[in-house]
Amino acid sequence: MPELRQNFITKEWVIIATERAKRPEDLVVHKPAHQIASFVANCPFCPGNESLTPPELLRVPVSNDGKWQVRMVPNRFAALARDVEPTRTIHRSRRTINGFGVHDVIIETQDHSQCTALMSDDHVADVLRIYKTRYNELSHDHRIAHVTIFKNHGHDAGTSLEHPHSQLIATPVISHQVRQRLQHALNHYDEYGECMFCQMIEEELGEKARVVMTTEHFVALEMFASAVPFSTHIYPRRHMASFGDISSAELTELARTLRTVLAKLYHGLENPDFNYTIRSSPAECVGAKYFHWYVSIIPRLTRVAGFELGSGMFINTVLPEAAAEFLRKVNVESVRAAGV
Ligand SMILES: [Zn+2]
Ligand SMILES: [Zn+2]
Repeated sequence: MPELRQNFITKEWVIIATERAKRPEDLVVHKPAHQIASFVANCPFCPGNESLTPPELLRVPVSNDGKWQVRMVPNRFAALARDVEPTRTIHRSRRTINGFGVHDVIIETQDHSQCTALMSDDHVADVLRIYKTRYNELSHDHRIAHVTIFKNHGHDAGTSLEHPHSQLIATPVISHQVRQRLQHALNHYDEYGECMFCQMIEEELGEKARVVMTTEHFVALEMFASAVPFSTHIYPRRHMASFGDISSAELTELARTLRTVLAKLYHGLENPDFNYTIRSSPAECVGAKYFHWYVSIIPRLTRVAGFELGSGMFINTVLPEAAAEFLRKVNVESVRAAGV
């Protein structure tokens, strides 16, 4: 029988349609074989074309010998403008702020054909270190209310450039969705005296059915009320509201956990398009006892249709427990050892 499940964190309902259940393998989006070159002469992110991007903000390693591994630059087609003061205007029913904000691009590697799932853990850690540095820098800017770090991988995830990159957008406001989730978490803390995320992590670790993998500092889970198949969250086990508070040992381990989960999706579901985002507290809630940051990975295996748009409710055709079991069985290390 189908089941309606409520997301503990967002309060949103989802229909888990077991009647229409699909085997995870059936969700694979078969793409035409397309060999990607490791260097593309007119790609603005490929090495040697550094002058095609706006002046660099950060790089790893720091030396200027052209051998960078990761670079961060302002987005040439930024959604928001960084050189204006945010000014609010309210005119009857119309409320605006001029387009202040920061939009950066993190170029993750020199290799145009690379992807996170196949990088070394150390390389992914370098990418995460740049996220953290920039995240903390912008969180101290009084004009910034919220920083979102995200990656779009593949056409269905909204990528406009093939070269591996992620992005960061800092806004002068906190979105209604984020504000609402913070409010739910705060209400829970007020009522029960504990972080709802810590509670959920403890329950999931006890039950095990939806756990994809665990490491000393992190746990990767399929969500009980997952809106879409294989939506995977990575939570730090230590309570932390802000990604900016991650320790260096935790960051190294997050790189391994993130890379491993992405490799499980890559090998298990034939390199699906995906988005990942870091869901962290706004600067004003750093240190909050009620919010807990996490990484959300959303493979783009299905499309949003009329029911979802009209009701705000999703139909998920894969049981989260089946998705977790499937991903647990994808042995990434043996694939890697075989040189695939
Ligand atoms: Zn390139
Ligand atoms: Zn917590």
